[in-house]
Amino acid sequence: MFIRDLLQTKPVTFSCELFPPKAGTDLARADEVVEQTARLKPDFISVTYGASGNTSHNTLRMARRIEENGCTALAHLTCVSASRSDVAVRLDAMQQNGVQNVLALRGDLPEGETKPADACFQHANELVEAIRAHGGFCIGGACYPEGHVESASQEEDIANLKRKVEAGCDFLTTQMFFDNNVLYRFLYKLYAKGITVPVLAGIMPVTNKKQMTRIIRLSGTSLPPRFQNILDRFGDDSAAMEQAGIAYATEQIIDLVANGVRGVHLYTMNRPDIAGRIANNLSHILGKDA
Ligand code: FAD
Repeated sequence: MFIRDLLQTKPVTFSCELFPPKAGTDLARADEVVEQTARLKPDFISVTYGASGNTSHNTLRMARRIEENGCTALAHLTCVSASRSDVAVRLDAMQQNGVQNVLALRGDLPEGETKPADACFQHANELVEAIRAHGGFCIGGACYPEGHVESASQEEDIANLKRKVEAGCDFLTTQMFFDNNVLYRFLYKLYAKGITVPVLAGIMPVTNKKQMTRIIRLSGTSLPPRFQNILDRFGDDSAAMEQAGIAYATEQIIDLVANGVRGVHLYTMNRPDIAGRIANNLSHILGKDA
């Protein structure tokens, strides 16, 4: 099913994100993660994509398993290291495996890697154009409520985002954020610039301080004092941090839904148990029997 159709019929969507196993690692565990996540009955499940493309077959495999488990899949695709023919091959493979939704990303070159000579995409808007030209996909794009780390200003980033949406994005998913007011201010700015596609709020349940500190720093996400206090107080006690992280994400989502967001996308970090506890907290709010 196309996600754009889901977004037209549902007042608010709930979706989860998974990452694929590295080449040569446990595929059976990845299958279990897909099955357990699909049992939560999210509206769709997305699977990330390694920017250098070396786990692309596992992204596709996981996306296919999601569809086989009766759930809609969204396969991420990055273009930073890709040639036009690489992209065409991957899109054909997605279609052959029943995957109809793609999140079009530039990606970041892994440290120490250089762009291959035949890599030809500079930015995600060019990938969106290539997918549109290929045809047959619902296309999503990424956006950054606090601005992308490379942008000189949020205005510049939003102008670039507009270009990406006009290239053919059906919806956008945000980078994680921990202060809902940051998202609300961003949404007003998008609307003022004529960006009206649905924006899904990316929510990261932080249940492990060590794992998250680096990700948060690299993404340039700010931590409101209320959240920083939780990290400081419970960060070294894994059971307490898990409870606090689930409660914080739950509260964030309740406020977002109350304020009319079009969808909530949970960065699950391959923890269906945690996604399940959040979905359970929200079963009536999201209209799910989790
Ligand atoms: P772009 O839209 O190209 O933007 C990147 C920067 O370039 C921005 O500063 C933007 O303002 C600027 N820019 C954009 N277009 C133009 C233009 N035409 N001219 C000049 N400047 C321009 N990474 C992965 O490797 N795999 C994943 O699966 C993955 N999933 C993600 C999912 C989400 C929801 C998000 C928010 C991010 C994800 N990322 C993933 C990370 C992402 O690849 C990085 O944030 C990357 O740095 C930017 O990707 P983008 O698609 O937003 O790029």
